[in-house]
Amino acid sequence: MSQKQIRIAVIGGGIIGLATAYKLLLKHPHLQLDLFEKEAGPGKHQSGRNSGVLHCGLYYQPGSLKAKLAVEGIREMTNFCQEHAITHEICGKVVVASNQQQDETLRGLAKRGEANGLQGLKFLNNAELKSREPMVRATSTLLVPEEGIVDYKAVMNKLVELIQELGGRVHFRSSVWQIKETKTAELVVVTQTESYTFDRLVSCTGLHSDRTFSNYTGKKRPLRIVPFRGEYLSFKPEFEYMVNHLVYPVPDVNYPFLGVHFTRMVSGEREVGPNAVLAFKREGYTNKDFNFKDTIESLTYVGFLNFLRKNFNFAMGEFASSLLMSSFITKAKIMIPEVEASMLVKGTAGVRAQAMDPSGKLLMDFNIEREGNQVHVLNAPSPGATSSLAIASYILDNYLTDLN
Ligand SMILES: Cc1cc2nc3c(=O)[nH]c(=O)nc-3n(C[C@H](O)[C@H](O)[C@H](O)COP(=O)(O)OP(=O)(O)OC[C@H]3O[C@@H](n4cnc5c(N)ncnc54)[C@H](O)[C@@H]3O)c2cc1C
Repeated sequence: MSQKQIRIAVIGGGIIGLATAYKLLLKHPHLQLDLFEKEAGPGKHQSGRNSGVLHCGLYYQPGSLKAKLAVEGIREMTNFCQEHAITHEICGKVVVASNQQQDETLRGLAKRGEANGLQGLKFLNNAELKSREPMVRATSTLLVPEEGIVDYKAVMNKLVELIQELGGRVHFRSSVWQIKETKTAELVVVTQTESYTFDRLVSCTGLHSDRTFSNYTGKKRPLRIVPFRGEYLSFKPEFEYMVNHLVYPVPDVNYPFLGVHFTRMVSGEREVGPNAVLAFKREGYTNKDFNFKDTIESLTYVGFLNFLRKNFNFAMGEFASSLLMSSFITKAKIMIPEVEASMLVKGTAGVRAQAMDPSGKLLMDFNIEREGNQVHVLNAPSPGATSSLAIASYILDNYLTDLN
C-alpha cells in the first residue's frame, strides 16, 4: 500500500533553514519540501553578515547544546566544504590575555575546551606567539589549532543547489505572513501571494524567531529577541600584515559576545570587530537605522529594561564604539598596540538575534521548541553558522522523529 507523502515547509533561508531542509531531504527522500525565504537570495541577514569563522567549542559550558553542536558542527562543516570544494582553511586561532585576571580566565577556558573534547590546545610562549602573530602583545596566549575560516555564502549557495537537486523547492521573495491550522491539523502557509498546505513546519527565522513563534502558533513567545549590531572595520590592503590568522581577546564570560577580534577572511581581507551595539532595528545595519515597532518593543520589554539597568556601562561602551572610531580602536589596541585609525576603513555589519528572558538575562544556549506540528528555532546565536549542519541533525533526531 502506498503511503501518503508528508509535506513539510521550512521557513527562513539562512544557513540553519537551508541546512535543515538539506538534511530532511537526505534522510527522507520522499518528502515534499518547500523552503520560503522573504529575501531575493539566501543568507541576506545573520548568515551572510558574520565573521566567517569556524568555531570549535572553546567557550561553551560543557554539556550545553552549544558545546555539543559546535564540536560536531565544525567537523561536519569542514567535511562538507571538502566534499563540495568550498573555500575554507583550518588556520587555528590565538586567544590572548592582556592582564593577570584574564590569564586566569584563559586557563579556565582551556580547561573548558578540553572538557568539550578540543584537541591540540597549547599555551604559546612569547617566541611562539611572535613567530605566528608578530604584532600581537599578550600576557598569555592560548593556541586553538582546530578553528578556521570559511566562505559561508558559498556554503549556502551549495545548500540551495543540493536542496533543489534532491527535489526540494526554494521560494525566494516569499515572506510567510501567517499559518492557519485546519481541523485535521494541516498547516496552511500564507505568503504575500499564495497559500500552500503542509503537514509539518520548521521555522528558522533568525532575527524574527520570537515574533514568528507567536504569530504562527498563537502562543505567547517564551523569550524575546533583542538585536545587537556588530560592526567591523577593514584593514587597508597595505596594512594587512598586522594580522596573520585569527586573534581573539579573552571574552567577558557574562556576555555571549566574543569581543572585538582580528579576522583574516577567506578572501584574504583582514577585519577588526564586531562590537555589540543595542540596535534600533532588527535588520538595521548602520547606526542611523531606526524602526519604530522594533524600538518600542525593546523599550517596553521588562527584560530589556532589566538588562540595561544591570549592564548600563557595557551598553554605553558599545554604543560609543559605534559612534567613535577612537573608542573602537582602543579595544583593538589592547591586543595590537600599533593599530591606528589611518590603517582602517569602515567595513560590513551584522545584527545578532540574541534571546533575552524577562529578568534581562542573555540566553547563551541554543533553544528549539516544538508546538504541535511546528518546530521553532528560537535562539541560534554564534556559533550557529559553524554548527548549522549539526543543529539540523539535532532537529531531525529530536523534534521530527515521526516523519516515516
Ligand atoms: C556579527 C555576527 C558575527 C557572527 N560570527 C559568527 C562566526 O564567525 N561563526 C559562526 O559560527 N557564527 C557566527 N555568527 C552567528 C551566525 O551568523 C548565526 O548563528 C547564524 O547565521 C544563524 O542562522 P539563521 O539561519 O538562524 O538566521 P539568519 O541567517 O538570520 O536567517 C533567517 C532567515 O529567515 C528569513 N525570514 C525571517 N522571517 C521570515 C518570514 N516571515 N518569511 C520568510 N523568511 C523569513 C530572513 O530573511 C533570514 O534570511 C555571527 C553572527 C553575527 C550577527
